Amino acid sequence: MSEPTVCAKCQGTGWLLEDAAGLRVAKRCSCFADRWKQSLFDQANIPRRYQACTLDNFEAHNDSHRDALKISRQFVKNFPAQDVGLLYIGPCGVGKTHLAVAVIQELIRTKDAACIFYDFRDLIREIQSTFTPDSILSESDVIAPVFQSDVLVLDELGAKRTTAWVEETVFYIINHRYNQKKLTLFTTNYPDTDEDEDKRDTFYKKSGDTLIDRIGVRLRSRIYEMCKVVEIWGDDYRKMAKQASYRF
Ligand SMILES: [Zn+2]
Repeated sequence: MSEPTVCAKCQGTGWLLEDAAGLRVAKRCSCFADRWKQSLFDQANIPRRYQACTLDNFEAHNDSHRDALKISRQFVKNFPAQDVGLLYIGPCGVGKTHLAVAVIQELIRTKDAACIFYDFRDLIREIQSTFTPDSILSESDVIAPVFQSDVLVLDELGAKRTTAWVEETVFYIINHRYNQKKLTLFTTNYPDTDEDEDKRDTFYKKSGDTLIDRIGVRLRSRIYEMCKVVEIWGDDYRKMAKQASYRF
């Protein structure tokens, strides 16, 4: 991180004094909005490896990618009037996290929305760590931004096996956001199957677990009430791109 530079126009005060019809009036300096936007990006907790993800640099390789991109763009366009979140479902490496991150970065950039990214496992781990006696943070320190942000990305839903405690905690968070009409974007590798339908295929995790196995019936049904399902299929493009970059 570079040292923050002090604005030359306002010497960092965020205000400019101007003469208007003989009166001295204070106006917001343009650096104030820039700093505000930067603080929104800083608070969004987006992992470095995803920070370059935008809607414009998402590569659409098939129809499911094109549909997912279209829905993601529409989500940004509709915000804040958008009334449901998104549940991106698909195998590893098809760009689910790319799209979810791109959406919140676009919302910060164009709509000054307060957004936060959390990997499902990290969120659980951080909440659990507040229970240790020497923890500096309290549970509410961790949960407050997750409750309050306009849009939450919860990445890799179900990546940690559900215990009664995890299920209860995640339901509590998600349900609170639901009641407050706050939007959440989920990504998951776990297929969602109805009982009379089996969509599990080799693209998905080998364990054979479905979303319900991982997060439980109650949370799954709440998520369906608050999200549009966006299914993405295809090969692992991340792996393919990486392999193609290795030269021999
Ligand atoms: Zn300034």
